[in-house]
Amino acid sequence: MKEKYKRGLVLDPSTGELKPVSRGQYIQQWLYGVCEPYILKGTMFMLKSPKRAALFNKMSTPKALPREVVVSTEAACRFIDFIYGQNIGNDCPRMAVTKCVCQTATGRFREPVEKDMALLYTANLYLSAKITGIGEPYRLIETAEEAKEMLKYFDECGLVHAIMYCHSSGRWTFVVCNCDDEICVPVQAYKAGRRDQVLAGPEIIALDRSKCKGCDECGKCIERCIFEANSIGLGGASAVDYKKCLGCGLCASTCPSGARTLVIRKDYEHEDKLTTRILLG
Ligand code: SF4
Ligand code: SF4
Repeated sequence: MKEKYKRGLVLDPSTGELKPVSRGQYIQQWLYGVCEPYILKGTMFMLKSPKRAALFNKMSTPKALPREVVVSTEAACRFIDFIYGQNIGNDCPRMAVTKCVCQTATGRFREPVEKDMALLYTANLYLSAKITGIGEPYRLIETAEEAKEMLKYFDECGLVHAIMYCHSSGRWTFVVCNCDDEICVPVQAYKAGRRDQVLAGPEIIALDRSKCKGCDECGKCIERCIFEANSIGLGGASAVDYKKCLGCGLCASTCPSGARTLVIRKDYEHEDKLTTRILLG
C-alpha cells in the first residue's frame, strides 16, 4: 500500500480527541473501501423486489457496516471548522472528495456527482492508496472554506449531510456523505424500513404555523423533505411529523417566512457517536 502521507489520524467524535490511526484500523478501512461498491450493489439488489426487501428488513445491520447521522449545514460546517482547526501539521490531510460511491456503484448519476467527502485517516488512505473500489481518484480539499462552500452548495441542491461512522464504534468517523432521495443507497434502505441506517441528528425542526404562507402559495418544505416529514395541515398551513424529522434543516433553509427553525433535539441518542459539543458549539 503506497503511502503518500506519513500519518493518518482518527477522530473520537464523542470526545473530540484526535490520535494516530492504528495499522489494524487502516487495513480494515482499506478492506471496507474495496468492498463498499459491492455492499451497495447488494443492498440495492435486495431492495428492488418487495420479497427481498422484506427479508432484508428482518436482518440486522452487521456491526462491520457503517451508520450515518443526519446533520444540518450549520452543524456540518462546525464539524469542518473543528477538523481544519486542529494543529496536526501539513502531512496529514483533513478531507478529500471524490465521486459519490452510491452513484458510481449503481451506475445512476445525478449532479452534483463529486460529493463523497472523506475525513482524516480515510482521506489519508484514499489519497495514498487510490482506493477506489470504485475506480475514481480522490482530490484533496485544501481549506475549510472550500469544504464549507461545497456543503452550502449541496444544501441548495437539496442534499442531506450525513456523517458516517464505521463499525458501530462511534470512534471511526470516516466520511461526510451528501445524500439525495433517489440514488443514495442508505436513504433507499431507510425508506424501505431500515431505520438503523440513517439516524436522527442532534437537531429537529420547530414550526410556527402562524408564520406559514400556506402550502398552496408556497409548499417548499414539502418539496425539500426527502424523509416525507412534512404535509398539508389544518387550514392549508404546513404540518410536521416530528417522528420522521431527522433534523437536516433543508426545509428551514428555504422557508421564505421564517416559520421553520432548527432547535436542539432533546432525545438525541448519538452523543457517544457525534457529540453536540462539536456539532452545535
Ligand atoms: S416553506 Fe415555510 S412558508 Fe412555505 S409552506 Fe413550508 S412552512 Fe409554510
Ligand atoms: S422536516 Fe425539515 S429538518 Fe426535518 S427532515 Fe424534513 S426537511 Fe429535514
